[in-house]
Amino acid sequence: MQFRDLQKQYDVLKDQIDAQINDVVTSAKFISGPQVKELEAQLAEYVGVKHCITCANGTDALTLALMAWDIGEGDAVFVPDFTFFSSGECPAYEGASPIFVDVDERTFNLDPDKLEEAIARVVDEGVLTPRVVVAVDLFGQPADYGRIMDICKKYDLLLLEDGAQGFGGSINGKMACSFGDIATTSFFPAKPLGCYGDGGAIFTNDDDIAAFIRSICVHGKSGNDKYNNIRIGMNSRLDTIQAAVLIPKFKAFADYELDDVNKAAKWYNEALKDSGLLLPVVPEGFISSWAQYTVQLPEGADRNAVQASLKEQGIPSMVYYAKPMHQQGAFEGTRSASADCKVTEKLCTRVLSLPMHPYLTEETVDRIAEELIKAIK
Ligand SMILES: *Cc1c(COP(=O)(O)O)cnc(C)c1O
Repeated sequence: MQFRDLQKQYDVLKDQIDAQINDVVTSAKFISGPQVKELEAQLAEYVGVKHCITCANGTDALTLALMAWDIGEGDAVFVPDFTFFSSGECPAYEGASPIFVDVDERTFNLDPDKLEEAIARVVDEGVLTPRVVVAVDLFGQPADYGRIMDICKKYDLLLLEDGAQGFGGSINGKMACSFGDIATTSFFPAKPLGCYGDGGAIFTNDDDIAAFIRSICVHGKSGNDKYNNIRIGMNSRLDTIQAAVLIPKFKAFADYELDDVNKAAKWYNEALKDSGLLLPVVPEGFISSWAQYTVQLPEGADRNAVQASLKEQGIPSMVYYAKPMHQQGAFEGTRSASADCKVTEKLCTRVLSLPMHPYLTEETVDRIAEELIKAIK
């Protein structure tokens, strides 16, 4: 059994994907080929924003957004404590101070009350300038944007939506990657919409920001002249082959894969409802793209033993995430290391992610649930 069955997906989409790759190879337009533009137009339309700019990976996407806003030394960037390292790494790489904020125990996402407290503390200290909130759509579920956007307005902060895991999710029909002043996603193979290597994208409605990012992701070029460099940028492009692979994968994602992961989540919820595990909560009006299906083990359960007994039954499981951001060694001795994040600390000891992908069958989900219930007894 696979944790995320990319081989099965390839079996289903093989003819289309192979044809796409073959087209790129025969045309030899490996960089910035027509498939890149085609994909960008499709993704912008799906998300409901004016501009989609693809780039080399989801980490670069975050960095490019922060560069566009000129975020750097002396700036405070608020980031959930429970997330993948990039969300805090990119602001730190730009010289800013990530300020880690605790999350909601039931949704795993940024807790708006804690966010407001953290902003007030930074203002009180008077050392850093609050500039950006990075809200992460963790495990596929959009963050609480209703409240987060109000807080950003109140304190005049920019909102950066880290939708690396969130592509395809929505709140009352408004799509993930459309909430931030800038939003980003990742096409890392295991993400909800993955390519066959690294890839990422940036979404925005702002024409000037879009033009600036198109420039800095190709060495600070001026317009379409890449040998006239008017600012310091980087080299961050999506390969044509990856764009070509994503075109049929995106079609399958929008046509049925997103529905099918939601079916799988329902099967898990049903099979585990009396298990004593805390199950992931999706609030009214929210749709998750289920990058992960993550349960919380009961207090005192031995997670290593549970994983080992699942593994014995051929069932893979993962721990996302084992360490709060503020405890990562990279932040030791900095302002970022001081954070009061009790919920994240608890989640890190209890969470367990189960196999999740659109090609799961109800039978497999039932078997995983049965073995998990046995393992926690
Ligand atoms: C995967 C991920 C990223 C980084 O994406 P890459 O494409 O791997 O660079 C950033 N943020 C979150 C929340 C992620 O899960």
